Parts: sequence; structure tokens; C-alpha cells
Amino acid sequence: MTEYAARIGRTALAATFAMAARARALRAEGKDVISLSLGEPDFPTPAPVVEAAHAAALRGETKYPPLGGIEPLRAAIAEKFTREHGLPVRAQDVLVTNGGKQGIFNIVMALIGAGDEVIIPAPAWAGYEQTVKFAGGVPVFVPCPQAQGFVLQPEALAQAITGRTKLLLLNYPSNPSGATISREGLAALAEVLRHYPHVWVLSDDIYEHLLFGGAQHHTLLGVAPDLRDRVVTLSGVSKTYAMTGWRIGWCIGPAEMIKAATVVQATATSGVSSVGQAAALAALTGPQEFLAERVASYEERRDAVVAALNQIPGLSCHRPEGAFYVFPSIAGCLGKTTPAGRVIGSDDDFAMALLEEAQVAVVQGSAFALSPHIRISTATALPRLLEACQRISGFCNALR
Ligand code: PLP
Repeated sequence: MTEYAARIGRTALAATFAMAARARALRAEGKDVISLSLGEPDFPTPAPVVEAAHAAALRGETKYPPLGGIEPLRAAIAEKFTREHGLPVRAQDVLVTNGGKQGIFNIVMALIGAGDEVIIPAPAWAGYEQTVKFAGGVPVFVPCPQAQGFVLQPEALAQAITGRTKLLLLNYPSNPSGATISREGLAALAEVLRHYPHVWVLSDDIYEHLLFGGAQHHTLLGVAPDLRDRVVTLSGVSKTYAMTGWRIGWCIGPAEMIKAATVVQATATSGVSSVGQAAALAALTGPQEFLAERVASYEERRDAVVAALNQIPGLSCHRPEGAFYVFPSIAGCLGKTTPAGRVIGSDDDFAMALLEEAQVAVVQGSAFALSPHIRISTATALPRLLEACQRISGFCNALR
């Protein structure tokens, strides 16, 4: 039998993929499964963006692109950050990556070696743990419970930092909780970080434009520019512009770090699809009006889903200010039994029983390192979402 490299053994595939696969299998059996397990906008990429990619291909922009990204795109990203956060960023501070995910991979592989600790406030996107373990690092989860709005508290951060801490990951608005962080919240974290100059921060701002009810996006660098020589800010077009398949993201950071991350990228991929970059440039520099309409739609769904879930016995759902997820607690269902005889001992049991017995696919909180919760993606048409809530209600009401 082939002996694979140790990094394969210690890197589990995200449970989001596993749940989606089980849902697909049930669907193939003819079951009407409502899948709320994937974090992907249900809107199309805006037509002008698709047209720009087509035009670029016809113009011959089909050769190997520059390693760090095409200049106009790097400049547009730098300009966007400067405009939104009031902090001057230059094109050469930007690395264009294959989706936000490769940005995370590049930074983690550039920085993290065997035994290095990475602080991950939980709940957190499973991709972080996966990447840190792949690099040989040690994920250190800091629980940020629902009672604290799922937001990292400065005392908890201070307690988690050791001499081996190399990196802190921040993600607001958050996947899976949708939580945002205030300026004051970030300022308090920055104050802690000033005492630990050996700690880098990766601020994953991929949901930065999906905000509700006038909520504002704040990023660590905007609040604490004095930390700029150890902060990397990451974003991309996947969520904002419904461009998950184009695989375009970026990171912005100090020159030396961008250079190191570029070495990782050069080793893995030789850069990013030229046509995709043309599309991303069109997205960033083209009309933005469509976005308000889509955000309003996500907000309407959030309101409907939170209201419906909070009527269901055993569930308690916070009201997130961003992204397209809700992350209700299922604590009140633990220890109960389904009509088919499954005992709900954990959120894993809850998610699997819900899929098998009510045909709704969600993801268990354990996949995000905070239990007992489930993540529901609201990136689905409202009638379907409401039907899913009805099924969840029927499922929970039938527990004994
Ligand atoms: N960061 C977070 C928090 C995410 O939820 C995701 C995707 O689900 C990513 C990064 C990766 O984004 P991309 O699809 O651009 O690689």
C-alpha cells in the first residue's frame, strides 16, 4: 500500500464537503433534499464581469500572467483598500491568489513550521484548521461563545498567546456565525497584540461587503495602522461578486511577507488565471449597484430564518450582522431521540439525523470547532429556506 506523506494523514477534508456529498447521494436516490450546507452565493456572476473575461480572452490575454497578478488588478485592489480604510497601500503590497483560500495557504505555508501555534477564534471556517495542520502547525482554538456574540475577547486572546504563537486568524464578518466586530473590539485586540510583537495577524475579510442594517466593516489595519508590518489582510471576489468558480482572491501585506507568499504561489501554481483576473478587475472597477439589492435579499432571508428558528423548541439563534450564515445553538435538543430512534448526543448526530429524517443538509458546529451548534447557509431562495425551517421545526418537535 502506498504510504502517503504525513501531511495528508493529518489533514481531514472539511465536513462541509462530506455533508454535501451525503446530500447528493440522497438526492440521487430521489429524495427532495434541501441543501443549506455550502457557503456559496446563489446569484450569478454579474454579466459585465463575464463579458470582460470573454473580451480579455479574445484580446489574447491567455498567456502566463505575472506571478503576483496583473498590474491593473493589483492597483485596483490597492486603491480599493486605501479608499475604504484610509491607509495607503501600493500595488506591490498586493498578491493576487487563486481564491481567498490560496491566500491563506500562501501565508500559512510561508510563516508556519512544525509546532508553531496559530490562534483560531472559534467558531471558525474549517479551512483554517486544515491549512494550519497541513503546514505542520498547531491550531489553538479560542472559544467565542454565542453569549459573547461569537466575537474574540481581548482577555481570551491574551491568555492564548504563548512564546510559540506565530499567527492569529481573524474573520469578520465570520463564517460560520456571521458575527461582525466593532472598531472598539478591534482596538482592544490591537492593544493586546502590541504586547506580543512576535505574533502575526491574518485578517480574512472575504465577507466584508455582506453587511446588514447599516453595519460597517472594520479591519484590524484600519483601526491599528501601527501594526502594519505584521498584519496581512485578505479578501477576494468570491462572495461579494458571486464569483466562487473564478478563483480570485488577494492578500495585502508587508513587502517581505508578500515576497515569501509569492514563493509559495510560484511553487504551487505559477500565478492566477489571466482571464479570471480580467473578470476580477471588471468586478472591482465596474458598476456596484447590483450589490445593494443582493445584500437586501440576504438580509431579508436572515430576518426570516432567525425568526423561524427562534420559534423552534430546543434551538436558539443569534441575529448576525453579516455574511450569509446563521449558527443556532441546538443545546436544547441534546439527549433527545428522533422518531427513527437516533439519539442526539452531539451536533454531528443532529445534522446527520436532520439530513436522513427531514432531508435538510446543514453543517454541524463541530466542523467549526464550536458545539453544540449547526450552520445554516442562507444563500438559497427564500421559499426554499422557509420550507427548510418548517422541516427543522417538524424534526425538533418530534424529538422525545
Ligand atoms: N475565508 C472564509 C472565511 C471562507 O468562508 C471562504 C470560503 O468559503 C474562504 C476564505 C475562501 O474563499 P475563496 O472561495 O475565495 O477561496
